[in-house]
Amino acid sequence: MANKAIILLAVLLCAQAVFGVAVVSKSAWGGRAPRSKTTLGNNLSYAVIHHTAGNYCSTRAACAQELRNIQSDHMDSLGWPDIGYNFLIGGDGAVYEGRGWNVVGAHATNWNSKSIGISFLGNYNHNTATSAMINAAKGILADAVSRGQIVSGYILYGHRQVSATECPGTTLWNEIRTWSNWRA
Ligand SMILES: [Zn+2]
Repeated sequence: MANKAIILLAVLLCAQAVFGVAVVSKSAWGGRAPRSKTTLGNNLSYAVIHHTAGNYCSTRAACAQELRNIQSDHMDSLGWPDIGYNFLIGGDGAVYEGRGWNVVGAHATNWNSKSIGISFLGNYNHNTATSAMINAAKGILADAVSRGQIVSGYILYGHRQVSATECPGTTLWNEIRTWSNWRA
């Protein structure tokens, strides 16, 4: 009986690994360790979508370089403990680890401790998110629900809805307004 339980657990763990979105770890993109971390609670009600307003990238190497540049800017120029976002989406269709799960981000003033922040690499006033990027973002949001970081009925906002900013850029703003969890 105990063996059966162990086998079932192993199957469930494997299934989760197979169906979850692959995330490029911070170490894989050459990121630095955080100076400090604040724990982000589970069962949050919000997710906030951003753009980096910087360079678009369409290869793993270019996205990794852009991520290192952004992290240096956030840590060295802004003095933050780490890159601001929880996860980032590259033009190569990959999800990149930022602060990751259960760590409070620095992406939307007054909303950091009640949301996860996901940012698209590029400037979506003139770039356009590909279907691979959109699927990647929806995939990491689904994983956030399945692991209990956000509730299934979470509300999706664009950064401009919670702060005076044009983020996440007009093309991405028009895109996310079609997603089922977006609310006016
Ligand atoms: Zn933003």
